[in-house]
Amino acid sequence: MTVENRDPWTGEVRAYSMMSAGAVEAKLAAADRAFPAWAARPLGERGALLLRVADELHARRDAIAATMTAEMGKLRREALAEIEKCAGACRYYARHAGDYLREETIGTEAARSYVRYEPIGCVLAIMPWNFPLWQVFRFLAPGLMAGNVALLKHATNVPGCADAIAAVLADAGVPEGVFGVLHIDSEQAAEVIADPRVKAVTLTGSERAGRSVAATAGKHLKKCVLELGGSDPFIVLEDADLAKAVPVAVASRFGNAGQTCIAAKRFIVVEAVADRFIQAFAAAASALRAGDPNDEATTLAPMARADLRDELHRQVRASVEKGARVLLGGEPGQGATVYPATILDGVAPGMPAWDEELFGPVASLIRVRDEAEAIRVANDTAFGLGASVWTADAARGERVAARVVAGACFVNSLVRSDVRLPFGGTKASGFGRELAGHGIHEFTNIKTVYVA
Ligand code: NDP
Repeated sequence: MTVENRDPWTGEVRAYSMMSAGAVEAKLAAADRAFPAWAARPLGERGALLLRVADELHARRDAIAATMTAEMGKLRREALAEIEKCAGACRYYARHAGDYLREETIGTEAARSYVRYEPIGCVLAIMPWNFPLWQVFRFLAPGLMAGNVALLKHATNVPGCADAIAAVLADAGVPEGVFGVLHIDSEQAAEVIADPRVKAVTLTGSERAGRSVAATAGKHLKKCVLELGGSDPFIVLEDADLAKAVPVAVASRFGNAGQTCIAAKRFIVVEAVADRFIQAFAAAASALRAGDPNDEATTLAPMARADLRDELHRQVRASVEKGARVLLGGEPGQGATVYPATILDGVAPGMPAWDEELFGPVASLIRVRDEAEAIRVANDTAFGLGASVWTADAARGERVAARVVAGACFVNSLVRSDVRLPFGGTKASGFGRELAGHGIHEFTNIKTVYVA
């Protein structure tokens, strides 16, 4: 089958072929063959290869960034930063995986009792297009260091990014079969999950994809980690430093054209500062310039696909019909996928802007009386990925953080993924963790050894 993708900015169409059943079988067999030798390889050797992967990423950053921009419209400078973040993750896990994977002695009445972290085999990664390099490396760098091998089913609209990752690993000297790309659709993915050579699956994407993949994984008794959507609250309390909060609010909501799982999406602002916050936020957002993602002057990228833009606009229209007020933007721009920076005020329950994830450059404003109401509204969502709270009193910020139901809460800071900290969600945002010790252990056999 041939798939056609459109460059979000130029409209240029590129076609590529999905893999036949025979080609998929060859990748599965290669992964299965590669696993024992890779798992047995000393950690230091796996680390040395990962350092070479980091160097290759850096050396090829211009070409890879061009592919990212052409396939999903990312601003060139955001693409370059993402590639460097991936190289950094490879270097970090090359150096630190040994600390996370070291045997842990647990004192009992035995002569010796301890936990070993053993690799499990081939893990299937189903990944999205929004951070087409980072989403993959966030799983891959710790996963390879743990001794697993991986197959990647990337989103249909970023095949060139998947192939670029495979070329980087191959040219860095990672043995054949340790990492493979599958150009397959969802039905083929279900067959791969069912295959006994695949031991587990990790997915980043929508709630719908998560439910489907988790059901297939459950049917075949395979472990899965799900990193799904979010509708992160950005809580501004009356003592917040607005000069610090506003630039972060703009970066968080409008970076990557708003197509970020951990972007701030619901701005929950205490009445006492609401007008001042909104005025400064709207002024900064209106200064964003939508346009060609290759142009250095562009500060708001086009969205990745026309259907995603149309769905976002439907959510905006439905929210306005139910009483939301458009403070900025709200009408699709020129070009197939451009959506302007948009701010909706007076967002209330029952509107898509309150109930659903808005995966694009649209901010929802919700005014609240006080801290207690802010926390209640923050938790009034199906999702639970990230959250941030802004206050001059750090202890107060920590108290709020403890009461917000989310996988991460940042006080006076942008919510972001960091190789040193676990990353993941709760509720409809998924389960399991990526990164750090918690992430690297997800796809290991946590083996107890007891010596009487
Ligand atoms: P999807 O969740 O459909 O795509 C993410 C990945 O999952 C892709 O590789 C996709 O493959 C794959 N996939 C989807 N359904 C299945 C399935 N049943 N079995 C196996 N693999 C599957 O995202 P969309 O691109 O359609 O975007 C829609 C919405 O998803 C966004 O508006 C946003 O709300 C959310 N999203 C969240 C992301 C996050 O970071 N949490 C990232 C991307 C999207 P394929 O491309 O072949 O369909």
